[in-house]
Amino acid sequence: MKNVKFSRRSFLKAGAAASVASLVAANAAAASAAEPKAPAADENGLLDGLFGGKTPKYIFLFIGDGMGLPQIQSASFYKGTVENNGAVIPAELSFMKFPFTGSVTTYDSTSFCPDSASTATSIASGEKTESGVINMTPWTRDVPFETIAEKLHSQKGYKVGILSTVNIDHATPAAFYAHQASRKNYYEIGEELANSGFEYFAGGDFQDPRGGAVSNYDMAIAKGYKLVTTQAGAAALKAGDKALVIAEQRADAAAMNYSIDAAAGEWQLSDYVRKGIEVLDNPNGFFMMAESGKIDWACHANDTAASIHDVLEMSNAVQVAVDFYNQHPNDTLILVTADHETGGMTIGFTTTNYDTYLTNLTKQTMSFVKFDSIIDTLRAQGASFEAAMAEAKKAFGLITANDADAANPEYENLILTDYELEGLRTAYERSMTVGAAGQGDMTQRDYELYGTYQPFSVELCHVLNHKSGMDHTTWSHTGAPVNLYAIGAGSDKFTGAFDNTEIFHKLAELTNVQ
Ligand SMILES: [Zn+2]
Repeated sequence: MKNVKFSRRSFLKAGAAASVASLVAANAAAASAAEPKAPAADENGLLDGLFGGKTPKYIFLFIGDGMGLPQIQSASFYKGTVENNGAVIPAELSFMKFPFTGSVTTYDSTSFCPDSASTATSIASGEKTESGVINMTPWTRDVPFETIAEKLHSQKGYKVGILSTVNIDHATPAAFYAHQASRKNYYEIGEELANSGFEYFAGGDFQDPRGGAVSNYDMAIAKGYKLVTTQAGAAALKAGDKALVIAEQRADAAAMNYSIDAAAGEWQLSDYVRKGIEVLDNPNGFFMMAESGKIDWACHANDTAASIHDVLEMSNAVQVAVDFYNQHPNDTLILVTADHETGGMTIGFTTTNYDTYLTNLTKQTMSFVKFDSIIDTLRAQGASFEAAMAEAKKAFGLITANDADAANPEYENLILTDYELEGLRTAYERSMTVGAAGQGDMTQRDYELYGTYQPFSVELCHVLNHKSGMDHTTWSHTGAPVNLYAIGAGSDKFTGAFDNTEIFHKLAELTNVQ
C-alpha cells in the first residue's frame, strides 16, 4: 500500500473531515512500519550466542531526554578538560564504553523533529504515533498500545519502577504507563499511574493533581501506594514497598532541581535509582525506566552548563546500575539512550574557530531558570545594567574589560567584547521592559535571539557558550539520531543502526512477552 503522509498542519486543518479511507490507509501504513524486523544479531551465530540467549531478569532503561551525541560528548570533554587543567583530554562517562552501541532514528508520524510523547511511545510500545500522543494509534487516537513495562508486569511478574527528574506525569515517564490522545491530559495520566499497579514511582510532582473529583494523590493512596514527599521518607522506603515518591526539593514547574542547582546532599537521579533497586529487587526480576528529563529543558534554553551537569548526574545514575550489574552480570541488561536530540547542540563555534574553552563553563554557578529569579529581583529594584552585570559575573563568570579580574588568568577567555556587551545590554533592556514573550508576539529576530525565554538569561547562556566553543541551532528538538549504549544479558541485540521502535521489539523478543 502506498504510504500516506500527513503534515501536522494538514491533519489539523482536515480535522474531523478527514476521510475514513485516509485514516484506514494511515493506520495500515503505521502498522506495517511497526512490523518487527529480524534483528541483525539473529543472523549472526557469534553475536546471538554471546549471552547464551538468557532472558534479562533485571532491566534498566535510562532515557536522557534530549540527550543527543553532542550532549554526551560535551559532558565528557568538559569533565576531562576540567580534571586535567584545560588539556584536551576527554573523560569517560559510565556508559560510553558499554560493549554494544546503536544509532537510533527518532522521527514520528508527524515530524522528523519529534517530541517526547511520540518517541517515548515508540521506545515503550514499538509503534510510531503523532507528536503529543501517548500510546495511542496515530490520527484516530482511539486504540491504546500496551507498553513493555505493562507486558513485563502482567506476563512475567516483573516489578516496575518509573523515575523522572521532571514531573512524574510528563510525556516520557507517562509513555510507560499511560495511554492518552494528548500528553497534556495530566489528570488522566495521574489516574493511569494510580491504576498501573507498578511498584515504584519517583520524580517531580503531578501537573494537574486536582483536575477532578479525587486528587491524583488520593487515587494513588487508594491503590495502596505509600505517598512520600520528603527525602527522609524516601530514604526510609524498604524492599517490597509500593511507593510514589514526589521529590522534596522542586524547582521550575514542580520538577526536580537541575543538578547544577541542587544543594549538597539533595537527592538526585542516582539516589532514586539506588533506592529503586532496593524497593524493586525480587526473585521475579524488575524493569526500571529512569529519565533524566531536564537535559531536554536545559537544551531548549540552550543552557550548555546545565545540560552538562545533568548528563554527568545521569552518568552517576547509570553507574549505580552498573554496580548492580557487576553483582548480577548474567541477569542484568542496561540500556542508555535518548528520546530525541534537543537544541541542535554542537561543539565548535564560529569565533573560537578550532578551539574550545570548556573550562569557562566552570564559572557558571546556576541554571538559566535560577538566574531568572535574580532578574525578577533586579527588575523590582530598577537595577542598572552595571548592577546586572555584577550578578552576571557571579552566575556566568562573564566580565567587562575594566573588571578587577580582567588580568586574572582564570578569566582570560571570559572578557566580553564590545559586541557581546552590546548584545547583553539589549537583552537586559528587553528583560526589564518586555520580559519573556510568545513567538507570535515578537519579531523574527527577537525570537531567534531569545526564544520564549527571559532575554537576559538566555543571552548570557549564548555568550558564555560561544566563548566556550559551543552553539545551538534551535529552541526546540531536532531530527538528529541518538545513540544507544548496551551492556549485559541480550545487549548484543542493540547494535548497528535501527529505529527507536526496534528498542521495544528487541526487549519483547529478549523477554518473550507477547
Ligand atoms: Zn523537549
